[in-house]
Amino acid sequence: MLIDSHCHLEYEGLVEDQNGVLERARAAGIRGFLNISTRRSEWERVVGTAARYPDVWASVGIHPHEADQHADLGEAALLEATRHPKVIGIGETGLDYYYDKSDREVQQALFRTHISVSRETGLPLIIHTRDAEDDTFRILEEEMGKGAFPALIHCFTASADFGRKVLDLGLSISISGIVTFKNAKDLQDVVETIPEDRILVETDSPFLAPVPHRGKRCEPAFTADTARFVADLRGISIESLGEATTRNFFDLFKKAKA
Ligand SMILES: [Zn+2]
Ligand SMILES: [Zn+2]
Repeated sequence: MLIDSHCHLEYEGLVEDQNGVLERARAAGIRGFLNISTRRSEWERVVGTAARYPDVWASVGIHPHEADQHADLGEAALLEATRHPKVIGIGETGLDYYYDKSDREVQQALFRTHISVSRETGLPLIIHTRDAEDDTFRILEEEMGKGAFPALIHCFTASADFGRKVLDLGLSISISGIVTFKNAKDLQDVVETIPEDRILVETDSPFLAPVPHRGKRCEPAFTADTARFVADLRGISIESLGEATTRNFFDLFKKAKA
């Protein structure tokens, strides 16, 4: 039993055949899917898909790439969107200085908007961070000081030092198919050390297909390949990794249990 804690079911490559994609994943043992938003124009579809399937949930938020187009998104709009019963998380939000598709100050301001709404609703933040460890940690630490909020670093690829610091802040860490890549030795070392009650797994599909599917379009069924790899790394069975990551998902995304 596994949960794909981060997929984009509305993206090209998955949206054309959502039923088939979900059926193949269920056949591979995936029992739940968190369908992630990246821009406001997508929220209705992301939430609509979650409303159609009992095993799909939704997040609402703005990806850092899209920050410039949403600079005036207020807390109220985000807060309103979280009221839907299938919306269980906020994001993906965060900072991406690798692509720098949006102004860094705007990314940071919008990140803080998402944090406020997470603190107010108790819904976890789904954080995307790339080449932005220092600012991501500084903002998280400052904001935690104003009042705690639940959060997850998605598709973790950051340094061991960043991993330790966010774990100390109480965050959880989600591992994507990148961990299975040949050049991911540093990440594999970090994944071995994440506490058992803080680790989740995801695909970030349609991107980042794990070994042995590299080069193919990624889909939620491949959560099983990443999970098997992570279980081997940690020297435990796939069953116990499945149990732990599923329990962690529901402990973090408490609204999914209701
Ligand atoms: Zn992301
Ligand atoms: Zn994503």
